[in-house]
Amino acid sequence: MNNNKRIAIVTGANKGIGFEICRQLGHKDITVVLTARNKTKGELAVQSLQNEGINVSFFPLDVTDFKAIQSLIDYVKNDWGHIDILVNNAGIHLNPEESALDVKIDTIRQSMEVDVYGHIYLCQKVIPLMKENNYGRIVNMSSKAGQLSSMGAKKLGYKMSKAALNVLTAVLADEVKEHNILINAMTPGWVRTEMGGDQAPRSVVQGADTAIWLATLPDNGPSGGFFFERDLIPW
Ligand code: NAP
Repeated sequence: MNNNKRIAIVTGANKGIGFEICRQLGHKDITVVLTARNKTKGELAVQSLQNEGINVSFFPLDVTDFKAIQSLIDYVKNDWGHIDILVNNAGIHLNPEESALDVKIDTIRQSMEVDVYGHIYLCQKVIPLMKENNYGRIVNMSSKAGQLSSMGAKKLGYKMSKAALNVLTAVLADEVKEHNILINAMTPGWVRTEMGGDQAPRSVVQGADTAIWLATLPDNGPSGGFFFERDLIPW
């Protein structure tokens, strides 16, 4: 039991930007619950962070599994009694080259299931606990693809899901504004990960930076915004 240190949950954290967010939060002396849908990959990721001296534990979580979300909340509540930070990072990017004229409705549904619905449910479960402590920071890993002000062709499912995550950010942030719970969306830019590919110009360290900043905002920090490189950007 450790009630003093801040506790952070990160989804989709066995690799890529989520893994780097766990590393950087851990190096800030925050206790990290690294979640991943694949147990073996998640445990390997935890092992490698523990080798760096980070206080991190693993919890298996497919964000589309609401029972598993409840189990995660119970686990964190029982072991630490509080949840301070939630990084909704898990995401999928299906059939990016497909035209909106051809995309299957199931593809869009799948994008929404992973990129949005699980994260809504996580917020619904985490926020009551955050309210108890009058403290919370939630980071929604969105994308420039979800930016309505620069919307173009293709990637319909991905764009809809990230735009929806932005809506969730603005609505929830307003609902909890009296409780010192700061909720923001961000884009990491185009980052070299399995999703971003080898040609992406940005490293995971660069991609994670804004998430770490938003996850550790002071009490008077911004809420209900969309950020890139720590700057506010249009929705
Ligand atoms: P990544 O390396 O492909 O990692 C995605 C993570 O999400 C993986 O851990 C993956 O698990 C997990 N995931 C997928 N479906 C899941 C589910 N149902 N439940 C739980 N976890 C699930 O991609 P990334 O680049 O780090 O992306 C992280 C976030 O940044 C995503 O939300 C993405 O949309 C966003 N983003 C990335 C870029 C970029 O250029 N890379 C740009 C803008 C936004 P598995 O390993 O099991 O598949």
